[in-house]
Formats: sequence, C-alpha cells, structure tokens
Amino acid sequence: MIYYSAPIAKLIDEFSKLPGIGKKTAQRLAFHVIYLPEEEVRQLATVIVRAKKNTKHCEICSNLTDKEVCSICSNKARNASVLCVVESPKDVIAMERTREFKGIYHVLHGAISPLEGIGPEDIRIRELLHRLKENIFEEVILATNPNIEGEATAMYISKLLRPMEIKTTRLARGIPVGGDLEYADEATLARALEGRSEV
Ligand SMILES: [Zn+2]
Repeated sequence: MIYYSAPIAKLIDEFSKLPGIGKKTAQRLAFHVIYLPEEEVRQLATVIVRAKKNTKHCEICSNLTDKEVCSICSNKARNASVLCVVESPKDVIAMERTREFKGIYHVLHGAISPLEGIGPEDIRIRELLHRLKENIFEEVILATNPNIEGEATAMYISKLLRPMEIKTTRLARGIPVGGDLEYADEATLARALEGRSEV
C-alpha cells in the first residue's frame, strides 16, 4: 500500500536516517518542510550544504572548525601545556561548558572498539603521538567516555605514553559508568576534571 507520494516518501526516508529520528518524527519533519514557504526550504538546504562544505578538522587538534586552526588552538590565553584527549567534538563542547578547563584538546574522532572493528589506527592516535613528540606537555588528561570503548582507548594511550614520561591523568569517577561525557551536567564534569587522578 502506498501512503505517500514518492517525493514525500523519499524525504521521510532521508529524515529517518538521522540519529534519534524515528519514523513518526521523520514524517512530522517531512510534512513540516512541505508546508514551509519555498524560500525557507531553500534557506534550510543552503545552510546544511554550507555547514558541511565549510567544516574541516583543525590542523592541530582535529576538532571541527571552519578555519585551518580552531579558535581554541589559536587562543594564546589557553594553557598549551595541558592536553585533554577526548573522543568527539561534542566532548570538547561539554568540557568547555564547565569553564574549568583552560588547556587545549586532542579529538580522537572515535574510540577503540574491537567489536565494531575499530582499531587504534582508525582513530587519531597517530596524530596525538606526533603532537606529543613535537611539543612539550606537562599533563595529558585522558577524557574518553567511562564506557568499555572509552576505557580501552584510555588504557591503550596511557601505555603508549608511559615511556614518554608525561604525567597522564584520567577524569575522576562521578560521570556515570557507561555514560557519555556529552550528557554529563557541567557540575559533574567539572568535579570529575578537578578530581582527576594519575594513571
Ligand atoms: Zn584546534
């Protein structure tokens, strides 16, 4: 049975591919778009394409930016001797919200997950090692998520760092185990940062 015209069905199909969007919500979004004035639909499409086109990885920390070097790496007021390693750009935003961290970041773009076939070479560990060799850091904070993949990643990196004799710390417990940094409230994350311990 065909409920929708082909173009609307296609639109619903595309929306339902987005994270957190079920069939019902996809249908609501599709009808919302259909009822919008054409100019607004065009605007929406342009914004999406432009965001995609003008986003790249920071040359230094791999965070998402529209410049060669992101606003955090180019900020001279930041403490460039403390490096916080996170899984995703969303984690940078979560850390920044705490207003507690004044150092700089390294974004791995993933975590080691043997189950999903993601190995150390699939995330930006090589780039991290390169940075650690080229620069002097007082401390590396491993702020990967407190779940199996995040712990495995932190463990892997801390082993690589051991011969380099760089102080390596891990965020304190307090972030729910199995949880994601991006969903931790600012106070919890700030406390976890403050209570970090050496690994
Ligand atoms: Zn950067």
